[in-house]
Amino acid sequence: MSRLSHEITDIAAICAHAGAGSGDGNPLVAPLVPSSTFCRDAIGSDCEHQYSRVSNPTVSALETAIGALEGAPPALCFASGLAAETALFLAVLKQGDHVVCGRSVYGGTTRLFSQVLADFGVQTTFVNTSNIDDVAQALRPNTKLVFVESPTNPTLELTDLRRIGAIARSAGALFAVDNTFLTGAGQRPLDHGAGVSVYSTTKYIDGHSVAVGGALVTRDEELLSRLRFIRKSTGAILAPFSAWITLQGFKTLPIRLERQFRTATRVAAWLQSQPGVASVRHPSLIEGKARELIKAQHLIGDGAVIAFELEGGIEDARRFLAELELCRLVEHVGSVETLITHPATMTHADVPREDRIASGIPDGLLRLSIGLEAVESITADLKRGLAAIVRKPFPVGEEVESCALIA
Ligand SMILES: *Cc1c(COP(=O)(O)O)cnc(C)c1O
Repeated sequence: MSRLSHEITDIAAICAHAGAGSGDGNPLVAPLVPSSTFCRDAIGSDCEHQYSRVSNPTVSALETAIGALEGAPPALCFASGLAAETALFLAVLKQGDHVVCGRSVYGGTTRLFSQVLADFGVQTTFVNTSNIDDVAQALRPNTKLVFVESPTNPTLELTDLRRIGAIARSAGALFAVDNTFLTGAGQRPLDHGAGVSVYSTTKYIDGHSVAVGGALVTRDEELLSRLRFIRKSTGAILAPFSAWITLQGFKTLPIRLERQFRTATRVAAWLQSQPGVASVRHPSLIEGKARELIKAQHLIGDGAVIAFELEGGIEDARRFLAELELCRLVEHVGSVETLITHPATMTHADVPREDRIASGIPDGLLRLSIGLEAVESITADLKRGLAAIVRKPFPVGEEVESCALIA
């Protein structure tokens, strides 16, 4: 077992030392134990691990580390973020129950509620969770789960975790927060009233695009033991190799996030003044009362995901993307490389156009996941894309003012 427990609050230390001392011989780096099963000394003898669908030393090392990040007991790791969500739903929902879910959560989460759970008699109401009244009005006597993201993806709206948590609790519903975008290093939902934090470790926790995985973090021992039972019974545990490689990426999580969050804030501010860009969304650009919320919830910055809209819709997006060399066009966030997604044709391609636009995802919207490159390299790349969509400026010396107008 790792000697670092949740009493230690130096997040950088928790991460850098993740897995240290777990295994025979006190290794600095957690050993990879691929064994599917574990031997006993005799019948009736106790052993920490029995079978790797139930638990595994390498997976446990990652679980201890992810739990510690949120000041919680060891997390439970799953084969993917959606496998973690599925286990949570199986643990707390049954036929006839009702769920309140954010309207712009991860697309796979929406699909799971609306196209899978619906067939098992669980109804979901999708609401704008940045509006407390909308959430309160959606609650029913049979609401068992309130599921939110903050910030949302790719619309980057914020949810007041403390207030939503309080109304969920008073309605007797479990409050779950998908914390994939900030992670426990950037936001601790359990400190704000969440009953469980949900992760796709595929994104920032791994950080290097080498392992798909998920995790659930809770301080509620009863829920934890129910989740452990569900995982054992349904079998979607993380594979040892995925746990091991995720653990290596995890060691640099806080330093990656600090750098990526800071660069994102600078790129967002820069994008705002660029011709061809209709609007930019990043929590750092939010002003007024919502800044208080950001101060209360965000620990080290406002995330590394930016959304921006080009003026010219899909055609502009196509021409813009064709010019990029550094930013990679993929359906992914949270890696060390800067990644870009065109939600209308990628992550949200199967959402009807009108619904998609109504939920804040127009044709010309692009999502940027900032990596570890220098800010200047990223802006230079984006500039190449923008040059392809902004109409040619007037020749030098003529009407500089109206040139800006055309842009
Ligand atoms: C990717 C993602 C998921 C799903 O995780 P997988 O590991 O791909 O199954 C869930 N929530 C958010 C916010 C995500 O970005």
